[in-house]
Amino acid sequence: MTRRTWYCIHLLLPTQLQDLLIGQLVPLGFEGFEQLPDSIDGYVRAKRWDRATARRFRNVLERFQREFPSAPVRSTLRRVREENWNKKWEAQAGIVRVTKQILIKPSWQTLPARDRGKIVLHIDPKMSFGTGHHETTQLSLQMLEETMFRGATVLDFGTGTGVLAIAAARLGAKHVDAVDVDEWSVVNARENILRNRVQRTVRIKRGSVAVVPRRRYDIVVANVDAPTLERLLPGLAKRIRARGTVILSGLLVTDLDRIRRHASRAGLQVGEIVRKNEWIAILFWVQ
Ligand code: SAH
Repeated sequence: MTRRTWYCIHLLLPTQLQDLLIGQLVPLGFEGFEQLPDSIDGYVRAKRWDRATARRFRNVLERFQREFPSAPVRSTLRRVREENWNKKWEAQAGIVRVTKQILIKPSWQTLPARDRGKIVLHIDPKMSFGTGHHETTQLSLQMLEETMFRGATVLDFGTGTGVLAIAAARLGAKHVDAVDVDEWSVVNARENILRNRVQRTVRIKRGSVAVVPRRRYDIVVANVDAPTLERLLPGLAKRIRARGTVILSGLLVTDLDRIRRHASRAGLQVGEIVRKNEWIAILFWVQ
């Protein structure tokens, strides 16, 4: 078996900026990354790490630092020997560390020791959307985590794999209603709800606004496309209690103005906007 020498470069970097920097490190010859909350380990073959590459690396970091001055980027380098990195990365594939607290794991993976104690969402994707790899799901989870409080009532509109509904239940919701128009999603979400043992808290129905139970929720989360959100916002806004919150995701940066106008007409006021790459999620307050 060949044993290659690698460099492991440890970078301190806020989670939300990691993907941006990784995109710039791949062209330098980095072959694998391990993303941790607020740091990354990047792996590059020692043979590849010549003076020119090291200089380019420093330039990338400097440029990045100028763009994001509030996020100090610090790196340390160590030499490692390893037979088969691929195996190690494969073994991690499918696990998504979304926030410091929340992790998404498919059933064929075992939980790494360092993640014990976190909120683990067991999600097996089938034909539905919501594995946790997509920015829009991650942004929704991040905002849901910020907004959730024990005993809240939640509507997950467009549940896909059920990931947001399950997260709400695990974060302390008293009751969660989840709907999706897609039959496969409803089947898949149901399986995931059982797998996460939240069937007492989460109710799922197939359909759109018309099947949403007639009640008012503390929190409505909808990770759906912009045209659908614009169309359904007036109906959804009626299902939120006074001083409740709505989290809309599935939006591109370029959708912001339009959706803000629609929301304002429906009596919703922008509270917070979070962004990852070209995607945004917006938290609204009911006026
Ligand atoms: N909530 C998951 C999935 C988002 S994908 C996540 O955050 O990852 C969007 C989902 O919304 C899809 O499963 C799609 O079937 C559903 N959807 C689209 N239009 C809908 C509508 N009008 N009513 C209910 N669900 C809808």
